[in-house]
Amino acid sequence: MSAKATMSHGNDTYTDQIHSEITEYLLSLGGKISNDYIQKLPCDGCGKNEAWTKVVDPTVIICNRKNNCGTNTHIKAIAPHLFTNWTKRYPSSKADPKASARAYLQSRGLDPNKFEYEQGTWKERGHHITTVAFSVRWTSKRWHRLLDIPKGIEGKTRWDKAEGDSYQGHAWTTGEIDPSQPLWMVEGILEVLSVQQGLGLQAAATFSAQHIPTKFYESLDRSQEIIVALNSDQAGQDGTHKNLEQLKKLGFN
Ligand SMILES: [Zn+2]
Repeated sequence: MSAKATMSHGNDTYTDQIHSEITEYLLSLGGKISNDYIQKLPCDGCGKNEAWTKVVDPTVIICNRKNNCGTNTHIKAIAPHLFTNWTKRYPSSKADPKASARAYLQSRGLDPNKFEYEQGTWKERGHHITTVAFSVRWTSKRWHRLLDIPKGIEGKTRWDKAEGDSYQGHAWTTGEIDPSQPLWMVEGILEVLSVQQGLGLQAAATFSAQHIPTKFYESLDRSQEIIVALNSDQAGQDGTHKNLEQLKKLGFN
């Protein structure tokens, strides 16, 4: 009897789903299974074949040269091909029209059963790009996260093309805001979902660092605790200042 290839944890994460593909790839790199470990793996830091990982959970590759290297590398960095090509690897069908979108969301550590989304197609420069699409409450236009982005396509997100503003003044949430809980303002829809599901925090998306969701802020109780947590790049820092200024003007503490 061997329990080697048995999952140690019950939750069905994306890396659990691709467990056999990860193992196969690590063995193709020269990895050797020895009891509970895959050893003799090439280290992403020093290049020596002295890294190892666990058979049950091969998501982190650890260099055994503790004093000279000791690099830990996530499987995503070593096998990026297992974290892309969603449309090819998880083709949608009539029976399962959201297969590609679902696999992508799971790869981001999200449980897609807990929120509404669609799989869409975005046409640009002759490409038909598969997307994860989200509806918003204030317009029939949907927000798209592009998957498998071809060369020559700028950015990762789009709004359906139609007359009128897409999100001016608004912020995206999964439901009503609970004024007794702090509210985290982040930039993207997928970040809102990560913060909610991963950290159990209440969050809303501004859609961009430059955008101030004033109508949304106006709808909130003035006692609402708001934490502006935009991206740490320059645009995010500037946007954080502008949001905080606006909140002050509107009467928030
Ligand atoms: Zn190393």
